[in-house]
Amino acid sequence: MSRKPLIAGNWKMNCDAASAVTLARDVLQRTSRLRNVDIAVMPPFPLIPAVLRVLDGSPIGVGGQDVSAELAGAYTGETSASMLTSLGCGYVLAGHSERREYHLESDELVRRKVGRALDAGLIPIACVGEKLAERDAGETFSRIERQVTVGLGGLTPAEMARVVIAYEPVWAIGTGRTASPAQAEEVHEYIRNLLTTMYGSEIASATRILYGGSVKPGNARELMSQKDVDGALVGGASLSGEDFAAIAESAG
Ligand code: PEP
Repeated sequence: MSRKPLIAGNWKMNCDAASAVTLARDVLQRTSRLRNVDIAVMPPFPLIPAVLRVLDGSPIGVGGQDVSAELAGAYTGETSASMLTSLGCGYVLAGHSERREYHLESDELVRRKVGRALDAGLIPIACVGEKLAERDAGETFSRIERQVTVGLGGLTPAEMARVVIAYEPVWAIGTGRTASPAQAEEVHEYIRNLLTTMYGSEIASATRILYGGSVKPGNARELMSQKDVDGALVGGASLSGEDFAAIAESAG
């Protein structure tokens, strides 16, 4: 099963209206000749309309960094899935480790967010990953198992077919410390086997599993060449059009 790689840039809480437009233009220009890779950027919520104006009509997708688990109503500060769809977003992150860490998001909450995203027609990029202490304690696979079975449990096959998973070892995010290609592949293969148990081999083999954690132009090619690594979720390096495009090139 050939899976088209996806390179997604998580801009986190960076940029302002002007620099977001500049960055989006730069990404557009530098990636315009890439055909064999899907590309998406996730700007902060208030900057999404400006970025969408730049990327309108281009193949580059735009997404939110988070989504509410609620439909609508008195939830101050929240952004609903349908708001993102109505703007023209196609993607949304769910359960990024910074949301889990700073906003105490549980696997159960992530599951609700994934459901809202799917109901609104978005592609959820569900993030999973173990902390360093969990890895050191030999709990990597049990942690991932819970995140996947709870965070992505009980979907219909048609829903699961639209989900993207990002494996992001927490100890590799923003630290400059990348999982080795073998470490990444080992967990990606585990996730795909888990999906086979949950949803069958057809869906498991079609699901894109991205790697995230200090992906840079210098390490992207080797990571992307692993059998079960289908692209990358890129944080820091996505703030440079040049680096982000180089990473996309190494995947496509
Ligand atoms: C991320 O936040 O999803 C991420 C992978 O960050 P970084 O590339 O900076 O490690």
